[in-house]
Amino acid sequence: MISFENTEIAFKSKSNKSLKRAYLLFKIIGNPTMVKIGKVATNTALNLRLPIQGLIKKTIFAQFCGGETIADCKNTIELLGQYGVGTILDYSVEGKTSEEDFDKTVNEIISTIETASKSKNIPFAVFKVSGISRFSILEKANLHADSLNENEKIEYEGIVARINKICNAAFEKNIPVFIDAEESWIQNTIDRITHQMMLIYNKHRAIVYNTVQLYRHDRLVFLEDAINESRLKGYHYGVKLVRGAYMEKERARAKEKGYPSPIQPDKVSSDNDFDKALDLVIRNIDIGAVCAGSHNEKSSLFLTELIKNNKLEKSDKRIYFAQLLGMSEHISYNLSDAGYNVAKYVPYGPVKEVMPYLLRRADENTSVAGQTNRELSLITKEKRRRGI
Ligand SMILES: Cc1cc2nc3c(=O)[nH]c(=O)nc-3n(C[C@H](O)[C@H](O)[C@H](O)COP(=O)(O)OP(=O)(O)OC[C@H]3O[C@@H](n4cnc5c(N)ncnc54)[C@H](O)[C@@H]3O)c2cc1C
Repeated sequence: MISFENTEIAFKSKSNKSLKRAYLLFKIIGNPTMVKIGKVATNTALNLRLPIQGLIKKTIFAQFCGGETIADCKNTIELLGQYGVGTILDYSVEGKTSEEDFDKTVNEIISTIETASKSKNIPFAVFKVSGISRFSILEKANLHADSLNENEKIEYEGIVARINKICNAAFEKNIPVFIDAEESWIQNTIDRITHQMMLIYNKHRAIVYNTVQLYRHDRLVFLEDAINESRLKGYHYGVKLVRGAYMEKERARAKEKGYPSPIQPDKVSSDNDFDKALDLVIRNIDIGAVCAGSHNEKSSLFLTELIKNNKLEKSDKRIYFAQLLGMSEHISYNLSDAGYNVAKYVPYGPVKEVMPYLLRRADENTSVAGQTNRELSLITKEKRRRGI
């Protein structure tokens, strides 16, 4: 059985300097007061245009991002590739609202697909539907696309056209593309359009992957239905499985608006459904493909066991593990060392514009205290081993 304890393998791509930087960062991130102060100070400094971008670039940005442009990410892509870990270029600019900006983002995503098609180290592309559309339209269309007025319908069709442009480029270049999962009040819209795309592009293999969040109590049934439908209609079902990133927000909104929370009652229920979803997809791998987007050691181990028990190859390209850059190196590198397919999301974009992403990483590591402690204890172990 694979072990995630080997820190020599886990951090083999890290120089002493970057290991020390990671240690310091996780120490700071693990302290809620420091994160609070850091967030206010960073936002204020950026708004006042104080010259702190250099500092951000050398610290938190260097840990969690590949660079400001695709070209900047070259070193990261090569370094990961050297150890058998793939890159998924994630253009992490958020909060845009104009049609012009959305079109620019679409072109940027298509550039990631073109870059992937020329590199053996980039197995997938990825995008967020909210990054190329107005949130309020996605929200309004969530119940049914028919609830939109004439102008909104035109805008909605524009969104479908943009997504189709990306998926078509992915199909033409033979680079599978993940469509990220987002808040439940826009997710029906995302699921609906993703389904449309799968019908077009997944006839022979999974090019378009939906994302299923198992912190939602209704998603296992959703996944089962989706797989059954794809079998019935004869297309491949590609799916990225995640637990889900918007738990607090989901619960707070449900409480505020007085509807039942879509989130599981507890962590164990999310964990159980995540592993059941892995099992379900592996049992249907003949018409599917899966990426386990997780930093959870047990679930990652469970997937290795499923691969073995179902007599599949570790290197079967239909099965991938994925983590975020700068996190859970012990999972990524030990899995890759053992022969499994692994890739990292490599976020990139101008420093100021990827700040929301970086602040979420800080929040996530602060709220999931166990995760930060685990990162710190592994880095400490490796520092000791190296005698630094
Ligand atoms: C490659 C990759 C891609 C991702 N893509 C997406 C995406 O498209 N959409 C998205 O939403 N997220 C995405 N995520 C984030 C992901 O959903 C998780 O937030 C994050 O990875 C932490 O979960 P984990 O599986 O690593 O495991 P763990 O750290 O074991 O689990 C933490 C997660 O469990 C759930 N949880 C925690 N406490 C409770 C509780 N009390 N009750 C119920 N559930 C609980 C929450 O989802 C929490 O984030 C992605 C992550 C990765 C690595």
